[in-house]
Amino acid sequence: MATIVRPRQKGPVKPQVEVLFSAKQIASRVEALAQEISADYKGRNLLLIGVLKGSFMFLGDMIRHLAVPVEIDFLSVSSYAGDTSTGMVKLNFDFKTDARGRDVLLIDDIVDTGFSLAFARKHILERKARSVEVGVLLDKPQRRKVLVPVRYTGFTVPDRFVVGYGLDYNERYRELPYIGVLPLEKIGP
Ligand code: 5GP
Ligand code: MG
Repeated sequence: MATIVRPRQKGPVKPQVEVLFSAKQIASRVEALAQEISADYKGRNLLLIGVLKGSFMFLGDMIRHLAVPVEIDFLSVSSYAGDTSTGMVKLNFDFKTDARGRDVLLIDDIVDTGFSLAFARKHILERKARSVEVGVLLDKPQRRKVLVPVRYTGFTVPDRFVVGYGLDYNERYRELPYIGVLPLEKIGP
C-alpha cells in the first residue's frame, strides 16, 4: 500500500507526495549495491563518475559503504531544449580525472530513455578508460529508447515522474529523503 506523507518543511506547504521507496528501503538497497560493487572491484582501480545533479545523494550514501578505495569525479549532461525524446545530449561540464586505463563506474539517479547515459558512457570510453560500467538508483525500463548496459540497479520504477533523494522537479524536491511520485496536476506549472 502506498503511503502519503507530507514532506517535513517550513514555509509553504508542499503538495503531497506518494512514497514509492522510503528512506529506510533506499538505505538498505544502497548498502547492498555498495557491497556488490566492493566485491566486483576488489583490487581494481575504481573511478566513480557521478552525473550531476541527480546522482549526488545516491553517490554520497553509496560510497560510505564501499570497502574499496575510489576516486570521485563528476560530469554534467543535458538534453537539448529540455527534450529527452530526441537523443540530442550535450556535455555541460566534463570530469577532470585522467580516465586512461581506469575502471570507471558511471553513476546516475535514473535511466529513462537511456540517451544521457549512453552519451556519457561513450564519452568516457573515448577518454581511454579500461572499462566503463553503469550504476543507477532507478530504472524506468518502459521508457527506454536506446540500449545502455546497466550493471547495477537499485530499483525498477513504473513510467511515472519521480522525485526525491536527488531527483528534482524544476530543481525542487531533491532534498526529500525518500523517492516519491508528485501529483503534477496539484502543483501547476
Ligand atoms: P534519460 O532519458 O536520458 O535516460 O534521462 C535523462 C535524465 O532525465 C535523467 O538523468 C534524470 O535527470 C531525468 N529523469 C528521467 N526520468 C525522471 C523522473 O522520473 N524524475 C526526475 N526527477 N527526473 C527524471
Ligand atoms: Mg540526470
